[in-house]
Amino acid sequence: MFEEDMKKFILDVPDFPRAGVVFKDISPLLARAALCRRIINVFCTQAKGKVDAVCGIGNRGFLFGPGIAQGLDVPFVMVRKYGKLPGKTITQSYQLEYDEATVEIVENSIQKGWRMLIHDDVLATGGTAEATAQLLTRLQVVPTQFSFLIELKFLKGCEKLLAYSRDIISLTTY
Ligand code: AMP
Repeated sequence: MFEEDMKKFILDVPDFPRAGVVFKDISPLLARAALCRRIINVFCTQAKGKVDAVCGIGNRGFLFGPGIAQGLDVPFVMVRKYGKLPGKTITQSYQLEYDEATVEIVENSIQKGWRMLIHDDVLATGGTAEATAQLLTRLQVVPTQFSFLIELKFLKGCEKLLAYSRDIISLTTY
């Protein structure tokens, strides 16, 4: 089964980057070219004909995002943590457990009316993907599909995204 094949190469790293967090390390999976190709194919099959562009959330949304965009033959767009992008940017802040974070996009990297696939490696609390969807919606881009390699179901991030799209793809769940 595809999910089981993937899970063999996703490592649990306890207490990283801080105590209490079990970090999902996809490095072993990235070392397997054939598996990565299958992952991109599955993402592309799910998105084919539905989206005009792919938005990757940095940094790890940049690992598979460009491959998905190339497979679909559509543009790839970057959303990054605040302060990493040049030019005229638009930002969206969101609440973390004890703190605040901000995502940012270059304004002219998108076109109004685009149907967007929002992609990242892990869906945890959903805060980052939700802020990305808010940012894109403000720019009149339509969050049409979300896709993740890993969803941490117990954090219920999915619930935050349903207001934007019911089309949420997670290849593995924990
Ligand atoms: P969240 O906004 O809580 O959904 O967190 C999503 C972002 O944090 C993604 O960009 C992930 O790369 C990263 N992340 C959150 N939790 C984990 C985890 N347990 N293992 C690896 N990455 C994580």
